[in-house]
Amino acid sequence: MKAVLLTGPRQAQLQQKPEPELPDKDWVLLRTRVAGICGSDLHYFISDSVGGEKVPYPCLAGHECSAEVVRVGPEARDFSPGDLVAVEPSISCGACDQCLAGRFNTCRKIKFLGHPGELDGCFAEYFVMPARNLIKLDSSLTPEEAMLAEPLSIALHALNLAAPGSGDRVGVLGTGPIGLSLILLLRQRGLSSIFATDRSEARVKAALRAGAAWAASVEQEDIVREILSRQPLGLDLVFEASGDQEAIDQSVALVKPGGRIIQVGIPVPERISYQIARLRRKEVAIINSRRQNRCLEPALELIKNRKVEVGWLLTHRFRPEEAQQAFSTAADRLDGVLKAAFIF
Ligand SMILES: [Zn+2]
Ligand SMILES: [Zn+2]
Repeated sequence: MKAVLLTGPRQAQLQQKPEPELPDKDWVLLRTRVAGICGSDLHYFISDSVGGEKVPYPCLAGHECSAEVVRVGPEARDFSPGDLVAVEPSISCGACDQCLAGRFNTCRKIKFLGHPGELDGCFAEYFVMPARNLIKLDSSLTPEEAMLAEPLSIALHALNLAAPGSGDRVGVLGTGPIGLSLILLLRQRGLSSIFATDRSEARVKAALRAGAAWAASVEQEDIVREILSRQPLGLDLVFEASGDQEAIDQSVALVKPGGRIIQVGIPVPERISYQIARLRRKEVAIINSRRQNRCLEPALELIKNRKVEVGWLLTHRFRPEEAQQAFSTAADRLDGVLKAAFIF
């Protein structure tokens, strides 16, 4: 089969690889339809070390996708060849203390689709997943929307952790697909005081389109001064959705006393720093958000019921043969890219 492999820093190649076997009776062989390139996939492309861990090249990444069922194991009930499915990329054990507490996203034995060293991902013609990780789609969702439900589920989990109050003033720092999904969900919940920032001009425009009340580029404005001039008491909630140290510092400056910072972006370096005196004096809570804890199904429902319109986030479609161009475009934010995806 064709597979897009990351073979080293800034190297993506189309190669031939054997089709995967079904590892157990309740697994399903899937044919990839649409596979989105996530910020976390880009980390393996940009740097050979992410969060203090070496990237084991060559790696087959990819976890945001829709797919078609090709073959089902004898215990993979409810699915038949030809079914179109959305894919929950986290495989949790269901038996550890975390799973029993409903924290499937921090399962002790978690395996994640396309996480190097755990499971081969969906940047390939075929991949395998347990049947319990699949959600059957009907014709009310396109394969592209089903793929976009995965980043929406990341934002939904972060929003659930943040539990915003109805009048909250909110910052979203970093308006890539996750930040934009956050803005869409905040608006859907009736919040309107949303302040958004990014480096890229295209993403600032996209933030306004998603429904931010105010958005600006950190390259062009002193965003802390601008936001605090509009909200002198500070923000109730700040979603840090870029992973940049600069935005982390801005979160601390923007949040009001007693407010919350939700860390959604994934910093590339192993350590980042906080101005602890400012945090402590304001008694700020920092909430770390990890992946999506079974938010895929509610995310699909929101799209299906047209409560959230995500189709426009997919701006760039690539063939697997264009692997290098696809990763470069997404990593370097070229051509106004929001979400880039491979169409298999
Ligand atoms: Zn992702
Ligand atoms: Zn578990």
